[in-house]
Amino acid sequence: ATPTALMVGTGRSARMGILIKNGEVLEAVNDVKTVIFDKTGTITVGKPQVTDIVGDTTQVLKIAASLEASSEHPLATAILKNAKDSGIDYSPAENFSAIEGKGVRAVVDGKSAFVGNAKLLNDVEVSDTFKQQMATLQAQAKTVVFVGQNHQIVGLIAIQDAPKPTSKDAISALKSQGLKTVMLTGDNQAVSQAIASQVGIDQVVADVLPADKADQVKQFQSTGKVAFVGDGINDAPALSTADVGIAMGSGTDIAIESGGIVLVKNDLRDVYKALELSKKTFNRIK
Ligand code: ADP
Ligand code: MG
Repeated sequence: ATPTALMVGTGRSARMGILIKNGEVLEAVNDVKTVIFDKTGTITVGKPQVTDIVGDTTQVLKIAASLEASSEHPLATAILKNAKDSGIDYSPAENFSAIEGKGVRAVVDGKSAFVGNAKLLNDVEVSDTFKQQMATLQAQAKTVVFVGQNHQIVGLIAIQDAPKPTSKDAISALKSQGLKTVMLTGDNQAVSQAIASQVGIDQVVADVLPADKADQVKQFQSTGKVAFVGDGINDAPALSTADVGIAMGSGTDIAIESGGIVLVKNDLRDVYKALELSKKTFNRIK
């Protein structure tokens, strides 16, 4: 390997906003068979908006905002903004806890309260009406969270995070190279499948807890080398485990540190460019 070629290749890519941080990536890139994507902030814009509230709007938003005021999750930001825009004043939460990949709990106005997905519910019953409303919203590619108090569901909040305008082209470029594309997400199957269909992703692995993302990457490695594209704190282990970790430049510091390649322009189409450039660079220095 000649270091000059490496520098030239990576220098050229750097000018295109594609930072190749190490040579290991270059060695793996010819054998990549699968490209796995995180959903939120990677395939989607990552700025979710509340679209529907089921139940007594004021009550549902008040409880939800009280809890989410202590959370930094993108869904929390969406819920808080909606509550503020609707002029709802919420109460401070006590004993707040965030449960990764599930939701948040706290005591609000002296009552135990929660916002989150089905995994958070344990033995809390969901009525058939809520189940049906949830299914309808999820089929529209909306993420739905339960809002509850005293062990009862009081309502639902639907939140939409649209795919980036470039995601579809980015996926189709990879597929045209014979690569398999996969979405790996903590969100639920119905929503994830709806978004995957919009952008042409081949396979969806949903309901994955943050701690299990790296294990999922390992499973795909049994069929060939894997590139993983992500942006979040919860993507860092998967980025390190993958043969080629690709971090979005807008991502969290830890994601950027864990990626072998960083896409400075946050354009998902640069995944294809990054792989092609890496191949050329490697084949030149080989
Ligand atoms: P992703 O893999 O899409 O980045 P996360 O692992 O961050 O997703 O979250 C997965 C799911 O956990 C969310 O879709 C939501 O149902 C639930 N969740 C996590 N944090 C919160 C929160 N603060 N409020 C409500 N729901 C949450
Ligand atoms: Mg993400």
